Amino acid sequence: MSLKINLRHLEDHGIHLKGDLPVAELDLGVADELIQTNQSLTYDFSIEQLHDAVLVTGSMTLSLDCECGRCLKKFKTKLKLAGWALHLPLEGEDKVSVENDCLDLTPFVREDILLNFPQHPLCKTDCAGLKKKTKASEAEGREAESKPAIWSELDKLKLK
Ligand SMILES: [Zn+2]
Repeated sequence: MSLKINLRHLEDHGIHLKGDLPVAELDLGVADELIQTNQSLTYDFSIEQLHDAVLVTGSMTLSLDCECGRCLKKFKTKLKLAGWALHLPLEGEDKVSVENDCLDLTPFVREDILLNFPQHPLCKTDCAGLKKKTKASEAEGREAESKPAIWSELDKLKLK
């Protein structure tokens, strides 16, 4: 499936476009390590031709595999654009490019998906971050690492 629409099919009546698009085809180019896109984009669009433009309305959903920016917990979230509307002029300065009567919605979908990406993914809005306990044990871990191995061995012996 691709997000190309043939304008000839729109001449008489609107069309409905529904399906899944492999995320690779969206070519999001996301460099954020905290957000991974491993699943397809699900979309459900109604497309109609206006006098000198194409109007796309509908919704799309993309599942994201995120890592919380505060506590590093992995979680899944859904980027959902409901009531999405796109007005694509076919005339004038801002007119969209049409090739062989086909109009590709992919760049517009990509743009709006990226605009709605979570900026700082959090497992929950009030995530308190790493628990103190975890921080303390991390610090201990670092301390132990910086000591020569022999000293940690001695520490263990002393504890006995
Ligand atoms: Zn969190």
